Amino acid sequence: SFTPTSNSVVVIGLGRFGGAVADSLVRLGHDVLGIDENAELVQRWADQLTHVVQADATNTDTLRRLGVADFESAVVGIGNDLEASVLTVLSLVELGIRDIWVKALSLRHGRILERTGAHHVVYPEMAMGERVAHLVTGRMIDFI
Ligand code: ATP
Repeated sequence: SFTPTSNSVVVIGLGRFGGAVADSLVRLGHDVLGIDENAELVQRWADQLTHVVQADATNTDTLRRLGVADFESAVVGIGNDLEASVLTVLSLVELGIRDIWVKALSLRHGRILERTGAHHVVYPEMAMGERVAHLVTGRMIDFI
């Protein structure tokens, strides 16, 4: 198995968001434990991440068995399944993870995640929409 250091991050949910986070972390030189319940995705990521496991992350005991409690940082990329997103954050809180990052699909979802104990809630679509607005207006200024 995998002994985490301060350089290690666990990424749960390897969809488009979690996958991009995991891939970038590896490129930046971090060790990444990826967890997803989808066997095909686990297979697809097997060569790219330090370690990849197929598991249901809502189960605290499962996460404990995988050694997740030894990680300082976790990123949760589960989005559509609100219940799974909240339960996964709750499990990470129960394991005492110090730095929990999680993606939210809506402000309401984000409020629940904050109350559950997530340290950082990110809204990828909203954040990128805002950024594109700045980029578009910046570009417009160039045309005037
Ligand atoms: P993205 O936009 O990043 O592709 P999404 O918002 O569509 O993701 P989902 O498809 O709901 O989000 O979840 C992302 C990943 O999380 C999927 O690969 C899914 O298999 C995984 N996932 C969902 N629930 C769990 C769970 N309980 N345990 C582990 N992985 C899970």
